[in-house]
Amino acid sequence: MATQTKMPVVPITELEQSAFCQTEEDLESKSLIEEFAVGVKWQRIPKKYLGLSPKLLAGRIQSAKKLLGQKVVILGHHYQRDEVIQFADYTGDSFKLSEYAASQTDAEHIIFCGVHFMAETADILTDNSQNVILPNMTAGCSMADMAITDDVLDCWDDLNSVLKRQIVTPITYMNSTADIKSLCGENDGVVCTSSNAKKTFEWALKKQGKILFLPDQHLGRNTASRMGVSNDEMIVWDPFKPLGGNSEEDINKSKIILWKGHCSVHTRFTLKQINSARDKHNDVKVIVHPECTPDVVDNADLYGSTEFIINEVVNAKPGSTWAIGTEINLVNRLAKENQDKNIFCLDSIVCPCATMYRIHPAYLLWMLENLVENNPTNVVKVASKTKENARKALDLMLSLS
Ligand code: SF4
Repeated sequence: MATQTKMPVVPITELEQSAFCQTEEDLESKSLIEEFAVGVKWQRIPKKYLGLSPKLLAGRIQSAKKLLGQKVVILGHHYQRDEVIQFADYTGDSFKLSEYAASQTDAEHIIFCGVHFMAETADILTDNSQNVILPNMTAGCSMADMAITDDVLDCWDDLNSVLKRQIVTPITYMNSTADIKSLCGENDGVVCTSSNAKKTFEWALKKQGKILFLPDQHLGRNTASRMGVSNDEMIVWDPFKPLGGNSEEDINKSKIILWKGHCSVHTRFTLKQINSARDKHNDVKVIVHPECTPDVVDNADLYGSTEFIINEVVNAKPGSTWAIGTEINLVNRLAKENQDKNIFCLDSIVCPCATMYRIHPAYLLWMLENLVENNPTNVVKVASKTKENARKALDLMLSLS
């Protein structure tokens, strides 16, 4: 169970996590060399790209894209910087972009401006003859990196030896590696997104067994608690502790086993921020992503996937006020494109997703100019057996939706 193209995992340091937290006026990209000055370690890139200003980069990206024409499709995740998203042929959340990728049967190359697990999913869903390219191979996802394959396999063995013949259905959130999706496919499990998590839980619970949910404990708890599962019926599996930090009795009694992972962006939002938004604006509607902690989701007016948040805000009444708990590039874009509404981020300290941020426009230009020279770089290829099993879990998700 392995991907052919291994991603060099470059964990997010505290320094990098906070390096790009800025005031809103300062969110504009700088040249790569200026961004490297804060001490980050991203994929090496030829020196000639380091000092190019965002304006110069934009002109060259446009020309390279024009030369390549229909051969290339650029996909941009909503959390990407403006200087990257402006070149996307399609924008969306991870699931929507994977669907776009699958529909691009004419494109030879799909450049995925997102993070590594998204490029892997696109490769699983596209034809073997197409290349899925990730502009910066260090653009991982800190949540996906919290579920390491060997740790998950250990957990799976432990659960099977404690639970003997009881059914455990593994469900993994889209934000996980191809290896973990494959493990689910191989063991009659399924993949889910933040919009269809409930359907997959309902399907799994009908089998009268338990669910192992990976890797986001908060999405898992938020989903299960709304289906009437009590906190007593949920346990958290900490991969650094024997039996995940649980007794055999706890495991036997549990209904949902939540992997101890989280999103470093969405767990920044707090109840205190919600209260402060309500103190300042009587009429505010608070809308958050279900990767936020349960106290935040419970106290918001609305919660849902990235696409849900966009639809609610875009279709809201002019003059309405929105405090949004999701990634700042998206919140700023919504504010810019909906000036008839008052839109702001719940967190006053503005922090982009540090791994999404690793896709700098210089990396996009590097990929495009390599393609002009017929030299595809950073191609993400998932090994065929992994692809087959992961596809099984993805197809099952689609059939349940
Ligand atoms: S926002 Fe969170 S879950 Fe999404 S890519 Fe960034 S770290 Fe991963």
